[in-house]
Amino acid sequence: MDISYKSTRSDRYTVTASEAILQGLAPDGGLFVPSGFPVIKRSMRELAGLTYKELALEILSLYLTDYTEEELKRCIDGAYDDKFDTDEIAPLKKAGDAWFLELFHGPTIAFKDMALSILPYLMTTAAAKNGLDKETVILTATSGDTGKAALAGFADVKGTRIVVYYPKDGVSRIQERQMVTQAGDNTCVIGIRGNFDDAQNGVKRIFTDTELREELDRRGFALSSANSINVGRLVPQVVYYVHAYCSLLRNGSITDGEKINFVVPTGNFGNILAAYLAMKAGVPVGKLICASNTNKVLYDFFNTGEYDRNREFVLTSSPSMDILISSNLERLIYHICGEDPERTAELMRSLAASGRYEITPGMREQLDVFYAGFATEEDTAEAIRDYYDREGYVIDPHTAVGASVYAGYRLKTGDETKTVIASTASPFKFETSVLKALSMPADKDDLELAEDLSKTAGVEVPAAVLSLKNAPVRHTTVCGPDEMKEALLDFLK
Ligand SMILES: *Cc1c(COP(=O)(O)O)cnc(C)c1O
Repeated sequence: MDISYKSTRSDRYTVTASEAILQGLAPDGGLFVPSGFPVIKRSMRELAGLTYKELALEILSLYLTDYTEEELKRCIDGAYDDKFDTDEIAPLKKAGDAWFLELFHGPTIAFKDMALSILPYLMTTAAAKNGLDKETVILTATSGDTGKAALAGFADVKGTRIVVYYPKDGVSRIQERQMVTQAGDNTCVIGIRGNFDDAQNGVKRIFTDTELREELDRRGFALSSANSINVGRLVPQVVYYVHAYCSLLRNGSITDGEKINFVVPTGNFGNILAAYLAMKAGVPVGKLICASNTNKVLYDFFNTGEYDRNREFVLTSSPSMDILISSNLERLIYHICGEDPERTAELMRSLAASGRYEITPGMREQLDVFYAGFATEEDTAEAIRDYYDREGYVIDPHTAVGASVYAGYRLKTGDETKTVIASTASPFKFETSVLKALSMPADKDDLELAEDLSKTAGVEVPAAVLSLKNAPVRHTTVCGPDEMKEALLDFLK
């Protein structure tokens, strides 16, 4: 079946997968969604015999139907190589009541690598396929992890430039150092005096600025995005949910067809949406558990049917989830309102104008598979401490939000369904918060902290942290949220 992509906000833009990846966002500000939910044809039992790369080919072929098998293979081989520190790519670790799906074995030690290591390949292949003669400028707003993963993926990739906007005071120390030390002539990193939502809104404004786009076009540039609004981010994330199911099947932890739960620490709703697509593709799922931190907009949404961003934005120990506008939720909204672009556009207009919208009872009924919970800062620290004390397993604060919400879910529901928690970052990326949670000294320099954590966790310091030691700072630009366009033009001069 050929899959095309259309905007969530109008019927005017129907494009191929490669065009959707090139454009990032639809010209009407909507997100591209597949024209249907493709279903995996082979059995889970068969898939369980495949390597991660072979499985990736199975899954990507379902969604990216205008890429040839050759092209997809080349992209997959380029992405999932020894940049990852394990052949398994996404290993499962049993600890306590759950399995942790470790998605942090890539070059920047957070789950964003799972998709951003392949996106540059998908994009340059798409540019060649579509005869694009322009340089692609990738605009990226980051809450901390996407930025570095996108920089690492696109640095020195011919025909591309990569611009990252991050909240100057809203990321961890390691996250900031990773970004501002990024090498590569085609890279640009800009700190915003504002939060992630400001950065993301600024990027969306640039995207829908027709005049600017025309000017860039004249100068030989085409804009795209590496944020999870790009379907080239979403689709590779489906792979590891299928992989997790297959791993449990292979090692005999579940029987064929047995449902499992997924717990996903959530911010922009990209990762959990990929889990939803995996379910639609045929992975047997009990519940999709959406875990929020103190910025619990999604928890409130799932429990009341009202999305309301009018509240204080809180900086937490899980900064990559400090988000009040979860962009990818728009794709789910589009689906549960019967794929009605006018209705979706109306809700999104309401969100832009008043910061809130409400869905109908009929739409809410279709959200049955989701359970939503949240963890406070104390809950998060307690989960880190708990897993270390009971299991000797050290988890990062984002994963801890998931673990805490899962503990609450089990207590409340008594559900014993086998459960996989998406482990979205290495604890080394957030070592200060982790060591504080374990009541260990945290006022040392980054590398000393990494050594301490290494001894505690019994895990080697990742290369991504060691490499920061003498790396020079290359990016120092800081601007206000209303100066993002000027900063971009400055870089493209
Ligand atoms: C980005 C990120 C998240 C949130 O993922 P979304 O797809 O934005 O919901 C959670 N944890 C970490 C470590 C991240 O980097």
